[in-house]
Amino acid sequence: MPSFQQQVRALESWRNFPLRTRLDASDGRRVLVTFDDGPDPAPDATPLILTELERSRARALFFCVGEQVQRAPQLAQEIVARGHLVGLHGHRHLRPGALPDAGAELEQALAAFAAAGLPRPRLFRPPYGELTAPLSEAAAQLGLETIGWSAWGLDWEEVPAARIVELVARDLAPGAIVLLHDSARYAPRRSPRATAAAIAGICARARALGLEPELPPSLTGDG
Ligand SMILES: [Zn+2]
Repeated sequence: MPSFQQQVRALESWRNFPLRTRLDASDGRRVLVTFDDGPDPAPDATPLILTELERSRARALFFCVGEQVQRAPQLAQEIVARGHLVGLHGHRHLRPGALPDAGAELEQALAAFAAAGLPRPRLFRPPYGELTAPLSEAAAQLGLETIGWSAWGLDWEEVPAARIVELVARDLAPGAIVLLHDSARYAPRRSPRATAAAIAGICARARALGLEPELPPSLTGDG
C-alpha cells in the first residue's frame, strides 16, 4: 500500500461494503495479527516471520497472494503446518480497478491454493484494502468473508521495528486486527526484516495489556 492517499481511498471504500475490522466479543481478549503479501521464500521474509512468531509463541493469519502461493507452495503449506491460518489476498495483487473480472481473479487464487494443497480459505483481504462492488460481491459469492484491520504498523514503508511496534501498540485493544506484511514484493520498502524484528515487541505490548496474539474461534470455525 504505497501512499497515504491510497490508504485513505481504501478506508473510504470500507464504508460501502460488508467488512470485518475487529474480532467478535466472544473472542475475548485476543488480538489477531495478520500478514499480507506472502508467502515469500526470501530469508528475510516469510521464513523469518515464522521463526519470530514461534519464538513469541503467537499464531497469526496470513493473507496469501495466489501467484506467491504458486511460486512457493511448500512455504504456504509450512505456514499451515506451523498452526497459522491462511486467507486469500487476490491472485496478482492488483487494484480492483485493474481487474476486468473480480470473480475470475478470486477463482484463480482459490485454484492456486487448492493446487498447493492448502485448505480452502474462508477469509479474504483485498489488495491495498480497496473494495469495489464487484470485488465485494465476488468474495461473498465464493463464501469468503472480507477482513480489514483496526491497527497497522505502516510496514509497507521503510519504517524501523521500534516504530512499527509503537504504531501497532497505539491501537491494541481486545479484538484488534493488526495489519503487517511478510513480503516486500508489492511494497516500496526493500525488506520485511523490520516487521519480523517488531513481532516480539508487539506480542510483549499486547500481553502487557492482558491480550493474547492468538487465532480467534470466530474466524477459525472452532467457536
Ligand atoms: Zn497486499
